[in-house]
Amino acid sequence: MEMLSVRCNHCGAPLEVGEETRFVTCQFCHSPLEVKRTDSSVFTEEVAKIARNTEQMAGSLGVIELQNDIERLDREWMASNPVTFDKNGRPMGEPGSGAAAFQMGFAIFFAVVCFGMAAAMSNFGGGMMAVVPVGMGIFAVVAGIMGIGRAGQYQSRKDAYLQQRAAMLAQLDARRRDP
Ligand SMILES: [Zn+2]
Repeated sequence: MEMLSVRCNHCGAPLEVGEETRFVTCQFCHSPLEVKRTDSSVFTEEVAKIARNTEQMAGSLGVIELQNDIERLDREWMASNPVTFDKNGRPMGEPGSGAAAFQMGFAIFFAVVCFGMAAAMSNFGGGMMAVVPVGMGIFAVVAGIMGIGRAGQYQSRKDAYLQQRAAMLAQLDARRRDP
């Protein structure tokens, strides 16, 4: 086989390559080289493809990382907000603001009844005993307010979680379209 003399495109060292050789590694600087031929000359070019491959690999690593991040986010959300199931195996539902508002309405109704009872008790000489229904009414209202607060906190935490998740998904899509 006829040998051709070329120079390394990276370090300029003289190299001998076979007539049909397309790829060669420079013995001096270890650059991967592609042997290119025109009608009048033979020369080498550093293989840029390897760099591209590395970039692509970094891109898909980024995708995997993002996927892991999303999974972790989901896991953390599930761990801090476990879904409870009723005895029929249906999810019990989250502390929604609707349920909290209903509870609050009931608490107010209950409190009105309690205060009415207290008023009646003191009218009929119940004296200190009237404190009991007053306390119950106040307790019910406070519990209702706390329920609304909890539902609101849950909603804002959930919004933050979903927002973060959507942002990560968008990033993932972008990464997949253009690695
Ligand atoms: Zn070289």
